[in-house]
Amino acid sequence: MRCLALNASFEPLTMVPVRRALRLVIEGKAEIVESDSDVVRSERLTLPKPAIIRLVKFVHVPRRFRRQVTNTFLFARDGYRCQYCHRGHGDLRHRECLTRDHLVPLSRGGDNEWTNVVTACSTCNTRKGNHLPVECGMHPWAVPREPHFVHLSWAVRRLSSQQAKYIKLFYGEAALKALGGAVAGTEGERLKNVGNKSKA
Ligand SMILES: [Zn+2]
Repeated sequence: MRCLALNASFEPLTMVPVRRALRLVIEGKAEIVESDSDVVRSERLTLPKPAIIRLVKFVHVPRRFRRQVTNTFLFARDGYRCQYCHRGHGDLRHRECLTRDHLVPLSRGGDNEWTNVVTACSTCNTRKGNHLPVECGMHPWAVPREPHFVHLSWAVRRLSSQQAKYIKLFYGEAALKALGGAVAGTEGERLKNVGNKSKA
């Protein structure tokens, strides 16, 4: 289980490995907001295992960082479903896989921005080929948008109910609902299995 890092403003930032969270606490850069019942022992120190930490100083998160599109995050944004035939990861046949499709193909001047890329199964991707959506009548299920990167971080990593509380605190119940399966549970288990293949 990873640790949820909050900005000084309590805005949830990202999930960090427990070791990194502890280092931030020891260096005085973060404080433990909530901890597990476990403790972490080193040669000199015994510390509670942090579940949620909060940065002491406010950190401005640059937009460039939010914009990076990796397949792990792209698939998470699209709910692990092909945006053309709407089949999920579990519905794919043996040789099929989820891929990245460019609405405007790269060869025709398209880019890798969030608004130009969608999740597509390999079959649909091949079928769409080098065409624009209007040329082949293949339109994505949902209009692709740039997501809040924190939402993606939750979508690909499991969140404990203790951590989910802070998401709700900052963004409200709706945000937590929108994340759906990201919270620990059967759906979270499925996402974890998918996410393990390609760590971002
Ligand atoms: Zn498809």
